[in-house]
Amino acid sequence: MEVMILMKDQVEKLYNELSGEYNFFAPVKEKGYIAYRKISNPEEIELNYFNSKIPPKEILFPQMEVLFEFKTDGKNVIEIEDRKDLDEKNILFGIRPCDAHSFDLLEKFFAFGDFQDEIFLKKRENSLIIGIGCNSPKSTCFCTSIEGHPFQKDDMDIFLVDLGDKYLVEGISDKGRNIIQQLSWLSKASKTDVKEAKELAKKAEDLITTKLDLTNTSKILESNFSNAIWKEVSENCLGCGSCSFLCPTCTCFDVIDENAQYENRGRRIRIWDTCQFCLYTLHTSGHNPRNSNIERCRNRILHKFSYYPLNYDIIGCVGCGRCIQVCPVNNDLRTIINKINNIKTKEEENASA
Ligand code: SF4
Ligand code: SF4
Repeated sequence: MEVMILMKDQVEKLYNELSGEYNFFAPVKEKGYIAYRKISNPEEIELNYFNSKIPPKEILFPQMEVLFEFKTDGKNVIEIEDRKDLDEKNILFGIRPCDAHSFDLLEKFFAFGDFQDEIFLKKRENSLIIGIGCNSPKSTCFCTSIEGHPFQKDDMDIFLVDLGDKYLVEGISDKGRNIIQQLSWLSKASKTDVKEAKELAKKAEDLITTKLDLTNTSKILESNFSNAIWKEVSENCLGCGSCSFLCPTCTCFDVIDENAQYENRGRRIRIWDTCQFCLYTLHTSGHNPRNSNIERCRNRILHKFSYYPLNYDIIGCVGCGRCIQVCPVNNDLRTIINKINNIKTKEEENASA
């Protein structure tokens, strides 16, 4: 399929054409940050941004979500009302490549095992990602160490490249190509446009200076559960949870039933939770298997760099750098990975003995 051009002053036209059929989510400025919101006015769209503070996972997996509502006779549940909005179609517009990849990881988690999360999976199935290349990655980005790239397009349906006064538009999936055909007023890209996009991709790649070697990290972690390194890397952690709440691949949640006692109604909700909180694994007996920051910090790292590879054959981090940017005590994930990589494996120790 041909590569097309969307002029920047045509974004409104694109929105008007698609927002009748789709809930249109896009980056907007909110309280000084970028957030993904369902928009009703295309003038709100802000594509001149680095990345959002809260990742776009919140579109399909919000911080607070009603799973279902129920009616009671005052004592027992007599009726369950399932969600009626799951068949609605969504466009996730202006998503960065690392975050687009995070949806693949979230899908693996929510589809794993015998009890699949139908709410997340249905919404994901009905969502189309129109992503955009990252022309100016920041010093905290390291997607290229995790087989990603600032111009990675595999996890998107349509891929955009910012060429100044216009966007290069490329259909990636069948769903994306169908949408582009529907937008018959898009003009064709010239060879110069395509060449410029390639040059921008190379420039962006060169801006990512962090190079992490993750080849053996998972293997090292498997045999170093009790290593002294966990005390060292958790010493300054405040347990604030920012690193995991704002991580696009973290999925932990708590489930709560709320009753409106006088109306004989209630609802079951889920809210984000984090393994960095001391209450997260606290048993009713008072025992807590992750009683200190040491166990909690270890769990965050093992989850992403050991359990994800073991369960899904993929690294559970997309290299977005959010956890590095937001940590109030500068607990840098890249430093932790390098420290882990410097631990000798049992085979290396035996060989040098
Ligand atoms: S662990 Fe950090 S760098 Fe990796 S995906 Fe999560 S927030 Fe981004
Ligand atoms: S953001 Fe930093 S201080 Fe807060 S829980 Fe994570 S590592 Fe600890």
